[in-house]
Amino acid sequence: MSLVERDLAVIWHPYTQMQTAQPPIPIVRGEGACLFAEDGTKYIDAISSWWVNIHGHGNPYIAQKVAEQLLKLEHAIFAGFTHPGAVELAERLLAILPENQAKAFYSDNGSTAVEVAIKMCLQYWFNTGRQRTKILAFKNAYHGDTFGAMSVSGRSAFTAAFDSLLFEVEFIDLPNADNLQDLKAAITHLKSDLACFIFEPLVQGSAGMVMYDAAHLDELMAHCRQEGVLLIADEVFTGFGRTGKAFACDHLQTQPDIMCFSKGLTGGTMAFGLTTCTQVIYDAFLSDDKMKTLFHGHSYTANPVACAASLASLDLFLAPATQQNIDRIINLHQAFARKISGHPMLKSTRQTGTILALEWKTDDNTSYFNTLRDRLYQYFLSKGIILRPLGNIIYILPPYCITNDELDYIYSAIEKALDEI
Ligand code: PMP
Repeated sequence: MSLVERDLAVIWHPYTQMQTAQPPIPIVRGEGACLFAEDGTKYIDAISSWWVNIHGHGNPYIAQKVAEQLLKLEHAIFAGFTHPGAVELAERLLAILPENQAKAFYSDNGSTAVEVAIKMCLQYWFNTGRQRTKILAFKNAYHGDTFGAMSVSGRSAFTAAFDSLLFEVEFIDLPNADNLQDLKAAITHLKSDLACFIFEPLVQGSAGMVMYDAAHLDELMAHCRQEGVLLIADEVFTGFGRTGKAFACDHLQTQPDIMCFSKGLTGGTMAFGLTTCTQVIYDAFLSDDKMKTLFHGHSYTANPVACAASLASLDLFLAPATQQNIDRIINLHQAFARKISGHPMLKSTRQTGTILALEWKTDDNTSYFNTLRDRLYQYFLSKGIILRPLGNIIYILPPYCITNDELDYIYSAIEKALDEI
């Protein structure tokens, strides 16, 4: 039996509708920005494998560090114990995060990093004896697939089967020059109930790479702070260089109280989650009263191998060559966006840092499920490029080591698609 036949017999893939699913493509190797299939076909991973990979596949430096760690210590319980990697990673990350971030809490992935952040906020109010239980979030937000993370995400086809079970959240529009004052007034009106405001800073990834102004977000955050509403920046997607700076919050003046990370944290090597918070939040849990404990701990909390991968990824991330690569991608994206802007098939192009999104014109509905999406996806696959459109929006966010030739190849395939599809 082939790998695909064996897969189809036993595996339930994410985002697959069982009756109509295409068989999965069997990938056996990765190198740089490329993935290689069992039959030798090469695919350029233009979306960094669901936005996780920043230094390329099969990165030898990360692999070496992970291998060394595996031979030393693969895992140890993190309740009541510690290990060097967890401490060093927290020290090094906190040193480059907004300066109010003081403590690091490890978990398993982006959704759990968000769950932890929400629990920290809700219990902060519980522990300090005040009743603030509502959460504020943006419409169309996406913060993960677990129940808490789903609750603070926009209601959509993805959540429909569970909507009645999700907790109530106040959803507001993204800020712009016209609605900012109204949004601030709404927050003031709700403030005595509001525990926190969670947002994807600058770019709402899953909503379709929706980009919004840092200055407007900043003003909204400053207003929340004034009203005592805690701020959670979900940097699961935007962290580690995606927006051009190390973190999207580096574009802002107002510092969040809590930050969530995953995806690029390990360089895309393995699952890992991190939630950081201020000393003020941490102090609300420091007590002899056991009821004030944050009772949240995953079996693999602070896994030493994930810490080693993250430390290696951080070494590479902080090397000047990586920032040069990020700047190079930004410039090439800009030039390409200028070149194709005005194409009759394009509704709009937008860019934040290394993320370039192109919105295709379509008569069909613009939902995630439209048929244009499937046609574009298959078209690019047939050209050896992995681009997974979100509805009628295609986006490129490559590993930073992608070569100019690989980017040029993707750009010209997009130009061809604009003319042919
Ligand atoms: N937050 C954001 C902003 C995300 O984009 C994602 C994943 N796309 C998540 C949280 C959830 O992360 P994970 O898939 O690792 O649970």
